[in-house]
Formats: sequence, structure tokens, C-alpha cells
Amino acid sequence: MSTPTMLTPMESAEIQQAYTDHELDVFGKRGLEIVRGEGAWLFDSAGKRFLDCIAGIGVCNLGHAHPDVLDALHGQAAKLINCPGFFHNDAKAAFLKALVSVAPAGLNRAFLCNSGTESVEGAIKFARISTGRQTIITAKRGFHGRTYGAMSATPNKKLSEGCGELVAGFQHVRFNDIEALRAAVNGETAALLLEVIQGEGGVYPADPEYIAAARALCDEHGALLIVDEVQTGFCRTGRFFACEHYDLKPDILTLAKAIASGLPMGAILVADHVEVPIGRHGSTFGGNPLVCAVATRVIEVMQRDNLAQRAEERGRYFLEGLQKQSHPQIRAFRQRGLMIGVELKIKSKPILKRLMALGVLVMTSGATTLRFLPPLTIERDEIDIAVAAFHQVLNEEADA
Ligand SMILES: *Cc1c(COP(=O)(O)O)cnc(C)c1O
Repeated sequence: MSTPTMLTPMESAEIQQAYTDHELDVFGKRGLEIVRGEGAWLFDSAGKRFLDCIAGIGVCNLGHAHPDVLDALHGQAAKLINCPGFFHNDAKAAFLKALVSVAPAGLNRAFLCNSGTESVEGAIKFARISTGRQTIITAKRGFHGRTYGAMSATPNKKLSEGCGELVAGFQHVRFNDIEALRAAVNGETAALLLEVIQGEGGVYPADPEYIAAARALCDEHGALLIVDEVQTGFCRTGRFFACEHYDLKPDILTLAKAIASGLPMGAILVADHVEVPIGRHGSTFGGNPLVCAVATRVIEVMQRDNLAQRAEERGRYFLEGLQKQSHPQIRAFRQRGLMIGVELKIKSKPILKRLMALGVLVMTSGATTLRFLPPLTIERDEIDIAVAAFHQVLNEEADA
């Protein structure tokens, strides 16, 4: 006999109470429980549907319950789930080949891990080990993760408050400021670590001249350029990787979020001149056959269904819809593919809540920016639903 909790679906109040009683809540809650997903839709315990313009924070790029993802998952789960890194495995071999085939030129080897912050941790270690230098320069308003190394790379005091001493050797410069970069990068720089489009910071794309200067300064001083594409990778911005918008070849590329369309996985790609001796890094779960089989299928589907092109086209359609009516509360739109930020002159949280009441789920990015990160498979008529709700909420806001 199954236990009663397995037989009886939990109701809203019971689910939420379990969290109140037993979760160490570091997230804060929206008062909505999600129990199922399909395509671009999520469902609560009463069966009410919500249009998902969050996609697990840019994770479920193929949408929910994608048949290819399920097929790869079921097939590999029955075959082999875990395999330590000192054995060869067919699923991991296939993924490594697929990943390198879509990566920016020159990145031919990867270390596989389990999350974005871990990919940044690894990148920091690899850069220091490989160059024998200490200093890592990162940009203000950037976000790289919540473990100590990645948090030290993230210049946001709110995240590190009460955490004690951060990792030494990090320096932060203004984003998109070439002079500040020139003053900071020198012969002691191990690496410059940047997002080419800042995600958590408010959807801010780097200027092409800034990226060109970053590449040139790193070359001039023998420093490595690490690009953090944890959020922008895997077709989100209308290219397979956002580096392609800039024709940029990083020395190290950090990936996670959408890499396995929802399964926990990360990767660090490195150029040939980045060397790390055996024994200096590792991971128990990293690159296990299960996530590798799913991630390989994700790349295949993204290529087969032209998801980069689709994100580019749908992103433009989404933006045009949002811009169709003008609202006095809007300060600016920032968009690359299906990574869309709407900066408001008012606080974004109350707008997010009213969109949720209308059945549309979005994120904020900072205090005044709304962020839309829908699955890349979202259809035009679904975008229309999000756009209509957006205009309704801002019109009501103006009337109030
Ligand atoms: C989300 C994010 C991270 C951290 O990823 P986790 O998987 O949450 O650890 C790092 N860098 C960027 C750019 C991100 O958007």
C-alpha cells in the first residue's frame, strides 16, 4: 500500500502550510503553488493555468514536459544514472561532442558540473591555476552566483551581508566603461569575468566597443576573458550563445540554467591554453549520464527546431506588442531575443503581483525592472496573452 500522501493530492493550503512549517525560506513566497507544467503553461493545485514568462528563470527553454526531454530522460534513467568522472561513459561522450560543436570557436574542452555558481567557481579556479595570477576583475551590477567565490565576484552587498570575509583578489569596475577597464586590467590580472548581457542586474547588454576593448586588453596583458553565459546561453538571446552577437571568443565560458532544460547541470568550456592538472578539481554528480543524455537532446532539439532564430523572431514580436501602447510609467525597454526587460518609473513588484492575478507569471530584475524570460517555444498567441495583461495592468495603474 502507498502512503496516504502519495494517494491524495495535496491542496493549496496544505502545500503552503508545509513550507511555512518546514522550509528555511530564503526566497520569499508569492502565495502560489505550482504542481504541473505543459509547454508555456504552469498549473496550480486547483488546475488554474498561468502563462509562464519565467521558465524557471531562463531554465526551461524548451518549455515544460517537452516530449524529447521526457524521452531522453526515461531512456537514460533506465540505463545508467551515475558514473564517476574517472570512467568513460557513452552519454557523456556524446554530450561533450555536441556541446563543443555549438560552442564559440576555440573552446574544445569542458568540465561538467551541476549549477551556475559551480561553473563560476570552477572558472575562477581554472583561471588562477592556469595563469598563476590572483586578481579577478568583474563588473558592477553583474551576477555570478551565491557560493563564496561567485559571491565575491558579485558586487552586491545585499547578497553577502553577514557572510563574513569574502574571497580575496576580486576587483569590481563599472560595466560598459572602457576607461575603467583600461585602468584595472594589467600584468597581474588572472581574468576578467563578464556577462555580455547582464541578467539579474536588469537586462543590460554590453556595448560592442566595450566587448572588443575587453578582448584586446586581456590579450595585451595575458589575462583570460571569462564570459558568464549561465543566463544568456542556449538560444535565449536569439543566438546559440550571446557571444555570437559580438563575434567574441572567450577563453572560458560558464554555462548552466537552460543547458538541460530544467535538470541541474552546469559546464565550463575552456580554450586550449587553459590548463588544469589532474586532481585540482572534481564533482560527484557533475556530468552524470542522466543529465548528459537530456542535455544532448536539448542541443539536438534547439538545432532541429531553429530555436535561436525563433527566439530572435518571437522576441521581436513580444517587444513590438509591449511597445504598441505607450504608458507614462515606462522608462525603457531592453531586449535581446526572449530576454526582455521593461524598466519602469515605479516599483516593479506590485505590477508583477497584478500580472499574476491575471494569470501571467513574470520576474523582476532590480527594484524597477520587469523581466520576461518565457520558454523559447512560446507561441505568438501566447505572447499576445502576456502583452494584453501587461497593457491592462499599466492602464489600471494609470487610472488608479
Ligand atoms: C543564475 C546565474 C548564476 C548562478 O546560477 P545558479 O545555478 O543559481 O547557481 C550565475 N551567473 C549568471 C549570469 C546567472 O544568471
